[in-house]
Amino acid sequence: MKAARTKTPRRPKKPTNPTLKDPVGVYCRVRPLSRADQECCIEVINETTVQIHPPEGYRVFRNGEYRETQYSFKEVFGTLGVQKELFDVVAKPLVEDLIRGKNGLLFTYGVTGSGKTHTMTGSPGDGGLLPRCLDMIFNSIGPFQAKRFVFKLDDKNGVDVQSEVDALLERQRRDALPVPKTPSGKRHLDPEFADMINVQEHCKVEEVDEDNVYSVFVSYIEIYNNYIYDLLEEAPFEPIKPKPPQSKMLREDQNHNMYVTGCTEVEVKSTEEAFEVFWRGQKKRRIANTQLNRESSRSHSVFIIKLAQAPLDADGDNVLQEKEQITLSQLSLVDLAGSERTNRTKAEGNRLREAGNINQSLMTLRTCIEVLRENQLYGTNKMVPYRDSKLTHLFKNYFDGEGKVRMIVCVNPKAEDYEESLQVMRFAEMTQEVEVARPVDRPLCGLTPGRRFRNQAFREELARKLEMRGGPLGGETEEQSVAEMLLQTFPPLPSCELLDINDDQTLPKLIEALEQRQKMRQMLSEEFAKNVLAFKTMLQEFDSSVISKEHYIQGKLSEKEKIIAGQRTELERLEKKIKTLEYKIDILEKTATIYEEDKRNLQQELESKSQKLQRQASDKKRLEARLQGMVAETTMKWEKECERRVAAKQLEMQNKLWVKDEKLKQLKAIVTEPKEKPERPSRERDREKAVQRSLSPPPVPNAPPVRLRHRRSRSAGERWVDHKPPSNVPTETVLQPHVPHAITVATASEKALAKCDKYMLTHQELASDGEIETKLIKGDVFKTRGGGQAVQFTDIETLKQESPTGRKRRSSPSQPDPLGEAADSEWTDVETRCSVAVEMRAGSALGPGYQHHAQPKWCWQCPGSALPSSGPPHWAGRAAGSLCCSLGTV
Ligand code: ADP
Ligand code: MG
Repeated sequence: MKAARTKTPRRPKKPTNPTLKDPVGVYCRVRPLSRADQECCIEVINETTVQIHPPEGYRVFRNGEYRETQYSFKEVFGTLGVQKELFDVVAKPLVEDLIRGKNGLLFTYGVTGSGKTHTMTGSPGDGGLLPRCLDMIFNSIGPFQAKRFVFKLDDKNGVDVQSEVDALLERQRRDALPVPKTPSGKRHLDPEFADMINVQEHCKVEEVDEDNVYSVFVSYIEIYNNYIYDLLEEAPFEPIKPKPPQSKMLREDQNHNMYVTGCTEVEVKSTEEAFEVFWRGQKKRRIANTQLNRESSRSHSVFIIKLAQAPLDADGDNVLQEKEQITLSQLSLVDLAGSERTNRTKAEGNRLREAGNINQSLMTLRTCIEVLRENQLYGTNKMVPYRDSKLTHLFKNYFDGEGKVRMIVCVNPKAEDYEESLQVMRFAEMTQEVEVARPVDRPLCGLTPGRRFRNQAFREELARKLEMRGGPLGGETEEQSVAEMLLQTFPPLPSCELLDINDDQTLPKLIEALEQRQKMRQMLSEEFAKNVLAFKTMLQEFDSSVISKEHYIQGKLSEKEKIIAGQRTELERLEKKIKTLEYKIDILEKTATIYEEDKRNLQQELESKSQKLQRQASDKKRLEARLQGMVAETTMKWEKECERRVAAKQLEMQNKLWVKDEKLKQLKAIVTEPKEKPERPSRERDREKAVQRSLSPPPVPNAPPVRLRHRRSRSAGERWVDHKPPSNVPTETVLQPHVPHAITVATASEKALAKCDKYMLTHQELASDGEIETKLIKGDVFKTRGGGQAVQFTDIETLKQESPTGRKRRSSPSQPDPLGEAADSEWTDVETRCSVAVEMRAGSALGPGYQHHAQPKWCWQCPGSALPSSGPPHWAGRAAGSLCCSLGTV
């Protein structure tokens, strides 16, 4: 069963101070031309500037001059520049940073053949930056290196410290393993490479923390076709069908650094060993390239140097094992693939695809730099597409987090590379504008400095003292031999056998020897006492140091306890916060559901309303269509009516014309034959009378009517014809007109008129206020020349009755007007106009002398036969032709 993997807690990203940022350091290296006769298109102007001009074939003439472009860098290394110079300026600060626990990235960029590999790795006899970096690291940390396996890298880009004993056990275990078939054990370096590491400068970092122990780990990977391969992976050797290398994945560690999972990391203890590992990787790369028909210039190689360091304990004896005291920094040395475009190398098939991908990863690098620059220059927050390629993803945190980034732009000044070199220069120019957060200094461990040497001094003193006493500190056997040696240095005892009584030599010799021994013993005991004293003082010193250590540990313990207590309260606070937040989330979720419900309801309502609106719109359309139909129908009806009326009028006019002709004929007859007035046939006279009755004589304005004779004298009293049309409505007023001696007629008859000399017509009409207005139209009766009767109107008396309810009488709710208000107002309008017409002709304004002709008067404004039966009361019973026609009968 697999053990459950616990997730490593991720540390929050270190807040980076925007003021502490450094631009990416971009340096330029111009390699010498391979042949002296080659055309050159790049010149070094000064220490920081190069000038590039188009070669003969490319020159673009402008105003007679060709374009030259200058590019500036942090520093330019010309063709005479040596590797050491470049290393001192570019790589040394990165190594110093590495030893101070800071990360660094150095990459070479340029077209194939521009000297990237020469710069990074070097050429035989002329080591590049990589071996020089290794040399400087080991020169600096050499004496302070930890024993192998004291530092142990984990699989999450972290490092642990194990005890000396564990490290020793692991060493023994590893030594027992069969040595893999690699040249590592033999130290047989390829002479080509052996030359490269033969760096004589002995460059070293001055300020190395001597109370720390160090270990170097190296790994070597290759990115090809956007796949990552481990160049140090020990694969079983299969000569017949070698397995293709397995690609590796990228992962982010808790400090947001990217790392290659399962990548081989070899602990190395010297420059030779480290370079040997590199060489092994390089060899593997070459083999893979040959076997898989790949082009090495198309892959990116990354050599990673990791430096683990941890402080010694207070005694300077052992390495502190606390994880937070361990620092792991790394320096990545990247030899990028050639930056040239695909067509330049005439890649085909598989290689083209690979080349495309390589270009893709360099393109992604360019895009990332571009976006970073834009974000930094204009304060935008565009996403940097690091993840688009493995190359940029691997170095994401250098740009995003912190670290020193340096780039060496390699250019070959030959004319053929002009265009590609221009691209390289442009990219370099852009890269210089990108800023990277400066790495922060590593916190000190808090122990008193100089522990390693204090401890060493103690040891040295002890060893010296023991040496003084006759030998090194050792075990019991050693102590015995010391005693024996001491005894041997004692003067030997002479023989103490007394064979002769007179022997006076033996005893004195013995005495002397014994005295000598006594002296020596005394000396030894004195020395012993002194040593004891010294030992006692040493012990006391040790005790005091133990006590101070104890105090220190106790202090630290209480400090830690305080921290733990603080963290506990923080934890409680956070838990409470979590609870409140959970509660809030709960409430918010509930609110969200309520709002969603509301939203649903509102949407439904909206839908129903919109449906209703649609319905209404279609109804409206239908109604409109119907109304249009009605309008068209009415228009047609009225057109027909108009035509009908025009025809009737034409007929009437023809009749009138005929009557006038007749009259004219008669008049002509009268004028031509005044004396012998022939007796007209009675039939003709009757017809004339009928005409006189029905039609008034032709209007002769201002012609006074001929009063032939008074039928009666005035003294005899005036006789009235009281003409009351039957259509009149009884007004039932208290005051009624009363005419004495009147002949009341319903229709005007010539017979009645012949008998009377006064005529009165009681005419009713609707006043503009809706009331019935009664008019008494009075006139004098005359006999016409033709023998008929004519009436000359002299006066109009208006009788008006007012009701407090006004118009309401007309439009009582019990009799709703089907035509509505518009029709009603139209009615009133026509009616008023008619009444005004009567008043204008017969009113006092025109004077009594105006003669109302008996001829029927056509009023074009009267609706005539179209009058509705449901009109106002006084119209109700009236015959077609109404007001004007009724007047016409007079
Ligand atoms: P790259 O890696 O860019 O394709 P290399 O580093 O392999 O180019 O260089 C191609 C050739 O040019 C090598 O033989 C190398 O020795 C030579 N070369 C490159 N740069 C220099 C230099 N600065 N001085 C001398 N020779 C150089
Ligand atoms: Mg190369």
